[in-house]
Amino acid sequence: MRRLTVLLLALAMLAGLTACGMEPADPDTAQESIQVIAMDTVMTFSVYGAKSTHAVYAAEDEVRRLEGLLSRTDPESDVSRLNAAPAGEAVTVSEDTRSLLEMARFYAMMTEGAFDCTLAPVSSAWGFTEDSFRVPSRAELDGLLEHVGWEKFQLSEEQNLTVSHDEGVEIDLGGIAKGYVTDVIAGILEENNVPRATISLGGNVLVWGDRPDGTPWRVGIQDPARADAADGYAGFLSLTDAFAVTSGSYQRYFEEGGKRYHHIIDPATGCPADSGLTSVTVVEKREKDANGNVLGSGTECDALSTALFVMGEEKALEFWRTERESRQMSFDLVLVTEDGRVVVTEGIADVFTPDETSGYAYETVS
Ligand code: AMP
Ligand code: MG
Repeated sequence: MRRLTVLLLALAMLAGLTACGMEPADPDTAQESIQVIAMDTVMTFSVYGAKSTHAVYAAEDEVRRLEGLLSRTDPESDVSRLNAAPAGEAVTVSEDTRSLLEMARFYAMMTEGAFDCTLAPVSSAWGFTEDSFRVPSRAELDGLLEHVGWEKFQLSEEQNLTVSHDEGVEIDLGGIAKGYVTDVIAGILEENNVPRATISLGGNVLVWGDRPDGTPWRVGIQDPARADAADGYAGFLSLTDAFAVTSGSYQRYFEEGGKRYHHIIDPATGCPADSGLTSVTVVEKREKDANGNVLGSGTECDALSTALFVMGEEKALEFWRTERESRQMSFDLVLVTEDGRVVVTEGIADVFTPDETSGYAYETVS
């Protein structure tokens, strides 16, 4: 069921990210497109430009390398070695793992613990790690939650790439890793002077440049209520140079006793977040400031989409308003609610097109 959903999701994203016709003689319109199955999802990389072939395969190599470091099921990965280590033992990890853990900790603090990469034992108890689903008892969850909290793992000083953790603590970077991969791929596109590309990692999308006809890329936001339909959309975003990351309760779940249990866990309860939302899409422009620093981050969008799903509509919008005022982070949101509304924040209202057939009520908030 889940794999079918993932495949359909990927197809839906492909439909949303329509790449236009190619003129192979013109390097700017030559396109290389590949599908990669990795990190438990179907990825599609469509890249234009003279170095498109080199860029797509370099992107695939990076995906495989990062999967090898961050996987929870590969016993050799950094994450598995860290999780298997006794409490307090310093484990040397790669720079990527180290910096991703640092970012995971930062977003845990920013979101007051709504994003928490130490939920691994809880996710496993629900069977999401090995696809062996079950509903754990309250007592079991309470016991596991004692070992959850971003302050329960320790990062060494900069030069030294070691990490350690408290008793019973395990790490799961599934809520942030694909976003990090899109940041790494963005670096590859930049190095190879790629003029335009679409990168889709399941719910994590990066659109680079514009379409060959000069119009923005169209990114479809899946309708959570029609997740099994390849063309069921809650709306569309017209974007250039941007990350769009969706977290949704329809992306991974199981059903037992007529109830649906999904994979985004509320750290306060240890249970699938019951926040009134069915999906959260976080959008950030990827651009450079006057000093050449990259603004916008797939990692940030990924961490926030998971965290804001846990928070629910009211808190998510409050978080958005606070960040907009402090200018610390600049992102926009599309929230789909259980009660049939699609809420769009004003920064992307002009690039959002509702799907009139969806039956949702559409609102813009400021
Ligand atoms: P995403 O699709 O980015 O929202 O990530 C969901 C994945 O992140 C789950 O499959 C878990 O591996 C992990 N996860 C679940 N709940 C949380 C949470 N509250 N904070 C961080 N990671 C989570
Ligand atoms: Mg996420």
